[in-house]
Amino acid sequence: MSVISQFKTLGQFIFDLVFPINCAGCGREGRYLCAACLPKLKKFDNQICIVCRQPSPYGKTHTGCVSKNTIDGIVSALSYKDPLVKRVIELFKYKFIQELSEDLAAALLNEISAQGLGDYFREFILIPVPLHKKRFNWRGFNQAELLAASLAKINGIETNTDLIIRSKNTKPQTKLSATERKQNLTDAFREQAAQIAGKKFLLVDDVVTTGATLNELAKLLKKSKAQEVWAVTVAHG
Ligand SMILES: [Zn+2]
Ligand SMILES: [Zn+2]
Repeated sequence: MSVISQFKTLGQFIFDLVFPINCAGCGREGRYLCAACLPKLKKFDNQICIVCRQPSPYGKTHTGCVSKNTIDGIVSALSYKDPLVKRVIELFKYKFIQELSEDLAAALLNEISAQGLGDYFREFILIPVPLHKKRFNWRGFNQAELLAASLAKINGIETNTDLIIRSKNTKPQTKLSATERKQNLTDAFREQAAQIAGKKFLLVDDVVTTGATLNELAKLLKKSKAQEVWAVTVAHG
């Protein structure tokens, strides 16, 4: 750890001591998101097909849109365009806040139930979108893993964090153009092919925007003969 980052960590520690925890919604003291503000997070109302971005029941990828390189469906709970949703997810992502992980996982589970997919996903294996080791060490945790753990705890579904690893330390996708995103993800992951064939997988992440990362993982899983690949994300951009 560099001197600067040690200083920052110490600074953050003192900051947290001096300034109490406030709700990201109303500013009230005590929780990062209070019980009154939790229901105010804007829902992602209409699930869409990740390929053509048109509405689709259950978020299932349209029959005419699905291919070996795409996920079979995606369900998201909240709208990332909502400033409060964005603020809460950033808090969760850049600070290690277990409390928010459980709230966000519960919101996601509500949406999965609302779509009638709770039982359908029971035979799936949860895979949190992996972080590269370097990024993991820098951040100290993988936000997708935290979410998967909270989801598994509520739903009793199996989680596997070893099937796919991120072998390339990719740049953050948000800063790249569509073409750059594709190049950035080329050979970014490595999979345990033998354990994938014939099984169904549910990828978990905090936010989806274009779906490039999720589709890259789906491609990898399908290449290893996965039967079905879906994704669930807390928010949709
Ligand atoms: Zn509040
Ligand atoms: Zn479509």
